[in-house]
Amino acid sequence: MTMTLVKPQLDGDYLDDLTIRTLYATDASAYREMPTAVTIPRSVDDLKKLIAYARATKQSLIPRTAGTSLAGQVVGKGIVVDVSKHFTKILEVNTQERWVRVQPGVVRDELNLFLKPHGLYYGPETSTANRAMIGGMVGNNSCGSNSVVYGSAREHLLSVKVLLADGSEAEFKATEAAQLSHTVLEASQKNGSASLLDTIYVQTNAMLSDPVNQLEIRKNFPKVTVERRNTGYALDMLLNCGPYTADGEPFNFCKLIAGSEGTLCFLTEIKLNIVPLPPTESGLVAVHCHSIDEALRATLIALKYRPYAVELIDNIILERADTNAEQRKNSFFVQRRANAASHLESFPTILVVDLSRDSRAEVEELATQMEAEMRAEGMGYHFPLLFGDDSKKIWTLRKAGLGLLGNLPGDAKAVAVIEDTAVDVRDQPEYIREFNVILKKHGMTSVHYAHAGSGEIHLRPIINLKTAEGHRQFRMIAEEIATLVKKYDGSLSGEHGDGRLRG
Ligand SMILES: Cc1cc2nc3c(=O)[nH]c(=O)nc-3n(C[C@H](O)[C@H](O)[C@H](O)COP(=O)(O)OP(=O)(O)OC[C@H]3O[C@@H](n4cnc5c(N)ncnc54)[C@H](O)[C@@H]3O)c2cc1C
Repeated sequence: MTMTLVKPQLDGDYLDDLTIRTLYATDASAYREMPTAVTIPRSVDDLKKLIAYARATKQSLIPRTAGTSLAGQVVGKGIVVDVSKHFTKILEVNTQERWVRVQPGVVRDELNLFLKPHGLYYGPETSTANRAMIGGMVGNNSCGSNSVVYGSAREHLLSVKVLLADGSEAEFKATEAAQLSHTVLEASQKNGSASLLDTIYVQTNAMLSDPVNQLEIRKNFPKVTVERRNTGYALDMLLNCGPYTADGEPFNFCKLIAGSEGTLCFLTEIKLNIVPLPPTESGLVAVHCHSIDEALRATLIALKYRPYAVELIDNIILERADTNAEQRKNSFFVQRRANAASHLESFPTILVVDLSRDSRAEVEELATQMEAEMRAEGMGYHFPLLFGDDSKKIWTLRKAGLGLLGNLPGDAKAVAVIEDTAVDVRDQPEYIREFNVILKKHGMTSVHYAHAGSGEIHLRPIINLKTAEGHRQFRMIAEEIATLVKKYDGSLSGEHGDGRLRG
């Protein structure tokens, strides 16, 4: 039973009227649940008061930044703690050592506007990068089209300052094996006076040192070559550190915190690795393929040319784009192909390969070589190379894909249920082939789009959720594809996180 206690006296706001609670009852997922209250803290002290109150009343806190999560991460009946309003400072930048220290409510694109005059850049992105905030990106271990170069938020997280579940402050950063052993030893000798932080070090060390656990983790987590791996807590990433792996990189709890979706601690400061600005000459090859399979095999060739992104747009999305005035203009480069069976022209499947470099000549040279190699393997029939504003139009088309699918005529829609699966990019053609065999067996089809270069195609089967049969198909597809992902040692979530959907 929840105890009634006096509400915490915050410098910020504690709001529990129906309107505000209703506004915060959703994120970008299908879930909706009324929170008990919404709070807008102003300071770390406010956060400590909230933690104390939540402990006393046995409620959960839901940290929240922009609230754009797709799997219900910030929906729940606890107290929403929105740090997007007052935790928005860029605290320090070090251009020599290439890092920046920020509060969690800094918007990703705004951070990059700030860094640009320094010639520096925060790599991980999302399609929502003009709203998504660093706290949420770390929470979800976000990544986007450019993950073939920059990876995800985890790879750029250097250290964090946090509040633990008892309200105590802690800092987590890279720790050499000798220092870690010393910390664990000291903590284990405290017995009755051990703090929560001591207990975390001692118990984590016990868990990761146990050979049985090591075997289970190595056996059951996605295989190491799966680049996008957002399902569950990243215990495998901790295990890869020294001293648990010989020659592993220094131990850092940040690896576990990235992707922990606000469930382990409350982030108050985040130190990020930053890199030089991307190349200035944006050049994209729109490889026109006959099929998804051809495009996925062509992806393996494209990756040899060190692209900044390799993204898929399938024929269903191009068909939808053709019915939308704005996206038809953005599809100006699409050349349909003759379809021998129907004597009609069909839309291709397009692989967008971003070969951006600092000079146009360099991009052209790479594009020519890549086209020759693909043609020699019988892949692709048209290879337009687009620069400047034209390349922006392709990106707009690619990002509009999700919205276009919302307009499929009739009640059957391209639904999100297994949209976030990821496998090793070399396994991808076979995985997708088997996926389509399963769908065909059930008389279904699916949309395929996005991150071919990172082994994550967003798959959206077309299902009518207004029917009982549609509900049955939804569950069946979730189960059968989970088994298929496991067969390939892949990850059920590549970028959107587990949230309530996969949790
Ligand atoms: C149309 C659309 C496209 C998208 N495309 C992508 C994409 O390309 N790639 C991608 O990765 N994601 C994508 N997403 C999902 C989402 O936008 C990203 O995961 C984004 O980084 C979330 O940021 P946010 O600020 O909205 O976080 P929120 O949704 O507010 O929070 C995300 C998680 O972080 C936790 N969190 C937030 N602040 C803190 C804190 N201070 N301390 C502890 N935990 C905290 C929250 O509790 C939650 O679990 C997309 C979403 C939409 C709607």
